[in-house]
Amino acid sequence: MLFLLCTALVHAQPNPDDQKRIKQFYDTSLLEGHSYEWLYYLTSRIGSRLSGSLGAERAVEWTKAELDSLGLDRVYLQPVKVPKWVRGAKEFALIETAPGITFNVPITALGGSVATPSVGLKAPVVEVQGIEDLAKLGRKNIEGKIVFYNRPMQANLISTFAAYSGCVDQRYDGAREASEYGAVGVIVRSMNLRLDDFPHTGAMSYGDQAVSKRVPAAAISTNAAEKLSDLLKLEPDLKFLFRQQCMTYPDVWSNNVIGEITGSEFPKEIIVVGGHLDSWDLGDGAHDDGAGVVQSMEVLRVLKQTGYRPKRTIRVVLFMNEENGLRGGNAYADNALANKEKHIFALESDAGGFTPRGFSFNCSDDEFAQVESWKPLFKPYLIHYFEQGGSGADIRPLKNKYNVLAGLRPDSQRYFDHHHAENDTFDAVNKRELELGAATMTSLIYLYDKYGLINAIPSTLKQ
Ligand SMILES: [Zn+2]
Repeated sequence: MLFLLCTALVHAQPNPDDQKRIKQFYDTSLLEGHSYEWLYYLTSRIGSRLSGSLGAERAVEWTKAELDSLGLDRVYLQPVKVPKWVRGAKEFALIETAPGITFNVPITALGGSVATPSVGLKAPVVEVQGIEDLAKLGRKNIEGKIVFYNRPMQANLISTFAAYSGCVDQRYDGAREASEYGAVGVIVRSMNLRLDDFPHTGAMSYGDQAVSKRVPAAAISTNAAEKLSDLLKLEPDLKFLFRQQCMTYPDVWSNNVIGEITGSEFPKEIIVVGGHLDSWDLGDGAHDDGAGVVQSMEVLRVLKQTGYRPKRTIRVVLFMNEENGLRGGNAYADNALANKEKHIFALESDAGGFTPRGFSFNCSDDEFAQVESWKPLFKPYLIHYFEQGGSGADIRPLKNKYNVLAGLRPDSQRYFDHHHAENDTFDAVNKRELELGAATMTSLIYLYDKYGLINAIPSTLKQ
């Protein structure tokens, strides 16, 4: 039966009404879109939006006001407590190959790291290719040194996100692990496939490690990582000095920003589209995730402008604190559970504002068969990537056995040139690429609104 159903879906001709609607969404986004103008304001007038910062709070107020101006049925803030980590004065680092012979190198403190002593931390360096090397080296080769994690992202992986996943443990767990062997600090090669001079920050964690054992952690640019590695081969006893003044303050209150169009037939069936409002403090968070924020806002605006009246409730959620805590995503899911809300579908855009290629879907095989049946509708727009896989960090806590979660999948080849670095700025986002992403998202939201799920979610289901 399932086989017949799938076959019928796959061979279905595109519905002309759907074709017309989808063309209208692309036309509206490309000819009369607001996403690029919104992105300009969010990134260039407000700027970076690290959780707990003034920028983050301004972004909450401004996006709420913009959603208010769209004439939605409901716009509101959802309070969420977030961590507050601040970078302090710009970091400083140098390599000393002999007394008085030094080379300055660009570094950036990793998010959540402790500071170095105020005069800086100077120590010999031991280079490793990953956490697994620590046990091989043992305490005798690590104690009193700075561990330099230098495993590069794997260049032959076509998905740069897969290459990122293959390295990010060095950044996230590297300091905690190295400290167990007596390291005094860690330097991590930036998660960037390109050789350049931008250090890339990102979250790290000490877990439940005792405060006295926590060592400072910084990322070094890829060019400087290559240089440090080369110099270590010539001069294994060289010293590395770095200074950073970052600090963690007590948690503060912030908000998720939410707006919705109430469904005309099934208002209790909720469809979410979103991105995360916070960003790192370097650059202005244009690709990560200003793009996803404005595209998600644009989905509701385009639906309104084209006169589409959704059957189900369509909700835009701008999540706070994806980068260093995921508190917004967790708070949203907790509230959904407490309010017994039924989320049938959620879509996140958090992979950059580049040319959209398609979506990845976290769903069952029969729900995926329905998605595959929609593929011909996207063909004119060169959207062809429909795969089962992950969705987005902020929406993941909403997953249950029945619903479908999806992530927009743009071309990822240049994403990590900018990710979490000073060059993640407005000028790095192309207007057409951003708008194509918004139209692609609107089209999928429309299809889920119109057709719903293949298998209804039982009313007794606990999230
Ligand atoms: Zn992101």
